[in-house]
Amino acid sequence: MSQTELFASPPVPPTPDRQAGLDRLKAFTPMMGRRYAAQRNFDFGPEDRSNISVLSAHVRHRLVLEPELAQAALKAHGLQTAEKFIQEVCWRTYWKGWLELRPSRWSEYKAELSQALHTLGEDEALRRRYHAARNGLTGLECFDAWVGELMQTGYLHNHARMWFASIWIYTLELPWVLGADLFLRHLIDGDPASNTLSWRWVGGLQTAGKTYLARASNIEKYTGGRFTPDAGALAHDAPPLDPALQHPAPQTLAAGEAPDPDAPALVWLHEEDLHAESWAADRLDVRAVVRQAQPLARGELELGECAARFTQQALIDGAKRAGAHFGLTAQAAAHIEDVIDMARSAGAKQILMQRPAVGPGQDQMAAYRAALAQADLTLCEMRRSWDAAFHPYATKGFFKFKSAIPTVFDQLRLN
Ligand SMILES: Cc1cc2nc3c(=O)[nH]c(=O)nc-3n(C[C@H](O)[C@H](O)[C@H](O)COP(=O)(O)OP(=O)(O)OC[C@H]3O[C@@H](n4cnc5c(N)ncnc54)[C@H](O)[C@@H]3O)c2cc1C
Repeated sequence: MSQTELFASPPVPPTPDRQAGLDRLKAFTPMMGRRYAAQRNFDFGPEDRSNISVLSAHVRHRLVLEPELAQAALKAHGLQTAEKFIQEVCWRTYWKGWLELRPSRWSEYKAELSQALHTLGEDEALRRRYHAARNGLTGLECFDAWVGELMQTGYLHNHARMWFASIWIYTLELPWVLGADLFLRHLIDGDPASNTLSWRWVGGLQTAGKTYLARASNIEKYTGGRFTPDAGALAHDAPPLDPALQHPAPQTLAAGEAPDPDAPALVWLHEEDLHAESWAADRLDVRAVVRQAQPLARGELELGECAARFTQQALIDGAKRAGAHFGLTAQAAAHIEDVIDMARSAGAKQILMQRPAVGPGQDQMAAYRAALAQADLTLCEMRRSWDAAFHPYATKGFFKFKSAIPTVFDQLRLN
């Protein structure tokens, strides 16, 4: 019996709301054990995603939560059998924690990207090569197909992302930041930590001495023969982009803030956390619910259509649920001044939000904090217990991080 007959393939792109995420979680749970470990590396193509969850965009926007994935896997299979699936969920947490501890890597990425975009304007040969890659006109069948899939669905299988990034850097010899930018703007799960640090990992900028080389035989095997690239057309070598790699020392993590139980509050939903029902704000005096009006930009160039659509609908879904939860009608705010006006007219004295992660969300808050303070509104940036418990372990490599999983699960009472 084929994989597809055993487990249904989800629609890609998936429906951007919590209910669709929960439905997919339920349908995929039986797959989270040994089958996932054995099959996850196969990219059967956009029509057959039965071997992976395709929940990353839901998790990215916290329409569905990491502990919900972990709990489903643990309950159905136990920690040992579901180890691989749980570790993959924790890779996301690891990357996020790693970047929280070293935010300068995000600032460097933005500066390097700005420089690369400037160079594109001046260097016609580079510009031509970039546009051929970006438009899927390289002549490399697999690569061109992945570009098409990315543009049409906003999603690529993990293995395809690794091959894509490797070919971009080592075969097409394009600047890694331009490829990372293309992914970040077009992926429906586009995430500053997972994306930037995975690209860095492929190019030997994350783990000293480690790079990823896309091989023709590996592509053929793991695409089930859908692609049979000519080995001579791919790079044979993947030297690290920075052979003298050194990371900045981890900085102190920002602690989450507890809301003032006596102060009237405004709940502010943004695209990084759209499940206000689990913010533990039930006993507070919530007077207004406000959502970010539009998806945030993820770079200097335009946000991809699939990513913009997914995020916009996810924001609407999150706001609708939050409104129902607090018995209020959620309003959309395009500017910080709108949030301030809404807080004032509702009589709110504190603004509750989940602390945005390092990336566009945190960049925006850096600009907003002063305006809120000036308006005499207290900003309460909460942190989820999942992040607070896991992030301190992201100081070194994933090996150390993953060995902490049982301890953290105990702490979070997930066993
Ligand atoms: C170059 C490159 C760029 C990437 N950019 C992103 C990105 O912008 N956003 C993003 O969410 N993931 C990114 N990934 C990680 C990974 O490819 C996706 O999370 C995964 O393919 C999502 O598919 P899925 O939900 O079916 O995963 P599953 O295999 O079903 O895994 C379950 C969950 O675990 C997490 N996960 C799985 N694999 C990884 C991984 N390698 N790293 C981090 N988290 C993982 C995801 O949240 C996922 O939903 C990138 C990987 C590479 C190599």
